[in-house]
Amino acid sequence: MRDASLVVVASRLPVNDTGASEGVFEWRRSPGGLGGALHPVLSNKPATWIGWGGIPGPSPALPDVDGVHLVPVELSEEDFRDHYEGFANSTLWPLYHDAVEPAVHHRRWWEAYQRVNQRYADAAARVAAHGAVVWVQDYHLQLVPAMLRAQRPDLRIGFFLHVPFPPPELFMQLPRRAELLRGMLGADLVGFQRSHAVHNFHQLAAKVLGVTPDEHRIEIDGRTVHTGAFPVSIDTAEMEALARRDDVVRQAAKLRSDLGSPQRVILSVDRLDYTKGIEHRLKAYRELLTDGRLKAPETVLVQVAVPSRERVQQYRQLRDRVEREVGRINGDFGRLGVAAVHYLSQVFDRTELAALYRAADVMAVTPLRDGMNLVAKEFVAARVDECGALLLSEFAGAAAELTQAYLVNPHDVEGLKDTLIEALEADATEPNEAMVQMRAHLREHDIQAWARSYLTALEAASAGR
Ligand code: UDP
Repeated sequence: MRDASLVVVASRLPVNDTGASEGVFEWRRSPGGLGGALHPVLSNKPATWIGWGGIPGPSPALPDVDGVHLVPVELSEEDFRDHYEGFANSTLWPLYHDAVEPAVHHRRWWEAYQRVNQRYADAAARVAAHGAVVWVQDYHLQLVPAMLRAQRPDLRIGFFLHVPFPPPELFMQLPRRAELLRGMLGADLVGFQRSHAVHNFHQLAAKVLGVTPDEHRIEIDGRTVHTGAFPVSIDTAEMEALARRDDVVRQAAKLRSDLGSPQRVILSVDRLDYTKGIEHRLKAYRELLTDGRLKAPETVLVQVAVPSRERVQQYRQLRDRVEREVGRINGDFGRLGVAAVHYLSQVFDRTELAALYRAADVMAVTPLRDGMNLVAKEFVAARVDECGALLLSEFAGAAAELTQAYLVNPHDVEGLKDTLIEALEADATEPNEAMVQMRAHLREHDIQAWARSYLTALEAASAGR
């Protein structure tokens, strides 16, 4: 057995999918992937990462990447469809995001969820050293903590949920709600993004399992499970350094001139997901153009919309609706050679994103529900000039920390319009106090601080047992 004192268990390995076919493995920083978030915490530390390599069927042995030992879990095409696309992304994901789209239930998906979770738990039980810390990540793997504890009671097991944890009214709809809660409660520490989620979890544990939670503790089966809020963050220093680079500054200036040197640039960067509020935002923008409160091309919207989960019907339909609306806005308000919405369904790398962030006057981040939203934090970190405005949904986890942003309820289209105008009217060329304060917050609360605080709490939680 390898001496693995920290083992991360996550749905996907943090390497590129092409590695297996082309033999070149790189740390994957794909949009929405955990690899990006955890890279600065783990790279060049003696850690092991257990996850799926991204291609169905047998996986080859993998080399260590950036000092992290990779242990692949094999998933068949059917496992991927029923566990990942099915139970994780068509049952849990919508339910955990306010049921913006209805959750779909199939018993076959639940069976796959159990089967696949067991495989991850078995892999962790196999490779973890005696007494190791095993950190299980996210909603794809909620059963793993209990499954792992059943095999390896010596381990210190943490679970962290990156997405929101819903209120009882929603969670109670899940046919297998008790099993899901019990799965998470196999951990020594169950972490969430916001204290609100901790509260929901306690309420549900009381209601479904009949326990009596304390402020940050749940006693169950003679064990103590600790709970807490640990808002995830970004590598602030890395984004700052990128944003200061001369080539990035030049690229930002070029972007503005390529856009026709508009007076104002609104930027949005999202995975194409129905939780991100893209349609509400486009509606607000269209109405502002219709009302004459905004004029294109003096003001332009740049919408980066990275294709996501494209085999799931709800996602394909969303993409069609968004692209139709972008076409309509440009048809009504563009001119030859000049668009009102610049729509890019592409993936940008970190350098390109830094340039985009620096080119914007207003960053519009208006999800209907979001566990955190790292893009909002990246924008703030990139504004080393201390200029620019952040329009931020109250329903993003980031709103609990970035309280100086222009906060909006994205369901309230009138409010969204008014607040967007307010943000656009602020002087985007002068440093502003809100940006200064938000930047100070992110320098202190970066991804390293997040990992440190979680792992310290996990040590403490498991020390007493
Ligand atoms: N991202 C990227 N390229 C893109 C768009 C997004 O690398 O073209 C990254 C972005 O920098 C951020 C992550 O994808 O780190 C998205 O995380 P977020 O929390 O905002 O949303 P999620 O996709 O996880 O729901």
